[in-house]
Amino acid sequence: MQVVQAYRFALDPTARQGAALASHCGAVRVAFNWGLAQVKANLAQREAERSYGIPDDQLTPALSWSMYSLRKRWNQVKDEVAPWWAGNSKEAYACGLARLTDALSNWRDSQQGTRKGPKMGFPRFKTKRRAARSVRFTTGTIRLDGHTHVILPVLGRIKTHEPVGKLARLLAEGARIASATVRWQEGRWHVSFTVHTERPPGKPARPDAVIGVDLGIKTLAVFSDGRPPVPNPRHLNNAMRKLRRLSRAVARKHGPDRRTGQRPSQRWQRANAARNRAEYRVAALRRDGIHQLTTSLARTYGTIVVEDLHVAGMIRNRRLARALSDAGFGEIRRQLAYKTGWNGGRLLVASRWFPSSKTCSSCGAVKTKLPLRVRTYVCEGCGLSMDRDENAALNLASLVERTVAGSGPETENGRGADRKTPPGGAGGCETSTPHRAPTARIRRGPSPTPGESLRILETQ
Ligand SMILES: [Zn+2]
Repeated sequence: MQVVQAYRFALDPTARQGAALASHCGAVRVAFNWGLAQVKANLAQREAERSYGIPDDQLTPALSWSMYSLRKRWNQVKDEVAPWWAGNSKEAYACGLARLTDALSNWRDSQQGTRKGPKMGFPRFKTKRRAARSVRFTTGTIRLDGHTHVILPVLGRIKTHEPVGKLARLLAEGARIASATVRWQEGRWHVSFTVHTERPPGKPARPDAVIGVDLGIKTLAVFSDGRPPVPNPRHLNNAMRKLRRLSRAVARKHGPDRRTGQRPSQRWQRANAARNRAEYRVAALRRDGIHQLTTSLARTYGTIVVEDLHVAGMIRNRRLARALSDAGFGEIRRQLAYKTGWNGGRLLVASRWFPSSKTCSSCGAVKTKLPLRVRTYVCEGCGLSMDRDENAALNLASLVERTVAGSGPETENGRGADRKTPPGGAGGCETSTPHRAPTARIRRGPSPTPGESLRILETQ
């Protein structure tokens, strides 16, 4: 199976190389801002002319947003706009203009309603302070040098913080690097290679096994087949005391002040770096835990059933936001989607409106209400009494049998991963977010098969 996979390595550039990397990222921003200024001026000019009643065919011609024409214009004016341009790779400017082209077409498509997802605004100028520092190289010398260095255009040979042997072996077997992106992330420079590689077809250890996974805050994951539940590690929570202390230490010191132009003191910088390290540690622990969970599931089970949690909507709930973000539901789902694909399994996603918690896994009765604080599911009909999340996991697993096996919520490409989150109402079955009227809950995308339709799409 041909896959596109990213390999990210932390870098250990010298001070000079670090400055060159920062300069490249600055060049990306300058090119982006230059292009945006051109486009904005052109749009404003045409708008003004229109307001004077000039007919459309006599207006100042519209500026093309294509990457090609922007690059052509940039090359004509770069000596004036950025006389220092030769200090950076041309890829940096191309990268900035490509990002502008993407941003503009996203905006236009969003305006015209041809783009899915939330509304995209008109691109804004990037500021030195806020803009993420990153630059992408797509041409030129991009390769590994031994197991400890990478080679990038203009920047040359940079030492990596961690060994790159795994990728080196892959490249020796015929994998191909399509691009390299250097980013300042988590207090370090990282390079991430986009690699086209052949992945041997995988097979899960138990291809016929079905597992329902109920994700939650109390317990991160509860399974339908008796596999021990994964406790929520709550990394952020555990680090909170320490983070507060470190933040106080930063606040007491002489920090930067834009209004007065005050530079941060050495002590402030040290304290700030310590706080950042503590934050990065939380992120790294979370990332590691989620990868271990999803890899183990995808390698073991042929079919994994999860709920379509509306994470973005749930995060709007202030009381849950921090715990939800710390748990990383969205990332778990994303990783399960591609890892089941890699391992020859499939991921089924139950509709957001499937009452997995409120249904009795024994007799199928559905409760109208089940507040979050009730941790044990007790069925009035058949007398079943079991852990709330276990009950939900069982319901998810049994969804596979109830839908036509192999053609239910599974999708055209066989990965079961392309079921798009439907637009509209916030909140899953378990949030306290106000729900919209049922009429708003129209699911777009592949229409459900007759067997599944009522069950999965059932509203509460
Ligand atoms: Zn029951």
